[in-house]
Amino acid sequence: MTVHHTDVAIVGAGPVGLFAVFELGMLGLRCHVMDALSAAGGQCVALYPEKPIYDIPGYPVVEAQQLIDRLAEQAAPFEPVYHLGHPVTHLEAIGEDRWRLTNAGGAVVEAGAVMIAAGVGAFGPHRPPLAGLAEYEGKSIFYLVERREAFRGKRVVIAGGGDSAIDWAISLAEIAASVAVVHRRDKFRAAPESERRLWALAAEGRIEMVIPYQLAGLQGSGGQLEAVIVQTLKGENRTVPADILLPFFGLSMDLGPIAEWGLTLENKHIAVDQATCMTSRPGLFAIGDIATYPGKLKLILTGFSEAAMAAHAIHPRLRPDEVLRFEHSTTKGVPV
Ligand code: FAD
Repeated sequence: MTVHHTDVAIVGAGPVGLFAVFELGMLGLRCHVMDALSAAGGQCVALYPEKPIYDIPGYPVVEAQQLIDRLAEQAAPFEPVYHLGHPVTHLEAIGEDRWRLTNAGGAVVEAGAVMIAAGVGAFGPHRPPLAGLAEYEGKSIFYLVERREAFRGKRVVIAGGGDSAIDWAISLAEIAASVAVVHRRDKFRAAPESERRLWALAAEGRIEMVIPYQLAGLQGSGGQLEAVIVQTLKGENRTVPADILLPFFGLSMDLGPIAEWGLTLENKHIAVDQATCMTSRPGLFAIGDIATYPGKLKLILTGFSEAAMAAHAIHPRLRPDEVLRFEHSTTKGVPV
């Protein structure tokens, strides 16, 4: 078993974890970054890679995947080591000032401080309770759209009544052979403008509204769907031909192992001191969506600021003999 030694272990390679690499790097601190997902990017990549984001300072508009690519590029000069594809399951204190983290793949990282940037925790989709579901998952049933082009020319059934369901119905109507939206009532929980566009496309015959129905069964073989069975509350069945099913019933938020790490929690979030982002355990810091304090806004830009504040709070703990002089990046530059 190889044990990696570093200054700071970051749990979570979402946008905030990635920017933390930069902020720590600017203070001369090295990082290892651990994430349960097989690619960096957190919610941006897992949930909405092709959606435009409008509230990142300096970018009037940037697609979520593009933002992640730029953050990874900004972090790269500081040579972070990534451990992807396995959740961090154990965290233990070793001695006074060091921590040992172990992931489900067996990687062990020992660090002087930990930044938990784990977003909504180990998130997973709410799965519809359908017989044989697992056979189709990843082949013709998907809980997120990684690449819109993969659905070109396909018969797509989308289930759900929130923003993701509506946004993808509108988007895929441009390239899919057909799009059907299955929802149990004619009210949606989505931005009014999106809902207006959805009904307009339905009126033009470009989206079929399968309402009021819910998913009841799957037809197909070898992981390839042929149709989705839907049912009304009264038990009337209908068969909707389908190559692809996209159930968008939201995310189940689960802090997972983090809940066992002895931190003060508030409503499934980690309570931190707003000035430093330190948790109730000295040496453990939390930033981004998972951190909470009075007035917290769950935005990417808030997480960026928390990464900077936590990095400045960590430096004196790890380098007590160095004087930390505040310097702008314009003065300091970055490694080339
Ligand atoms: P996340 O992006 O959630 O990343 C956390 C990472 O931690 C994940 O990759 C996860 O796998 C990992 N992780 C969790 N637990 C473990 C564990 N035990 N071990 C290892 N890894 C773990 N924000 C904006 O500012 N502007 C917007 O326009 C905007 N639009 C959005 C649209 C949608 C559809 C959604 C869903 C969100 C949007 N957000 C937006 C919110 C934004 O995406 C989040 O605020 C942001 O992703 C939080 O970043 P993070 O790095 O804190 O967490």
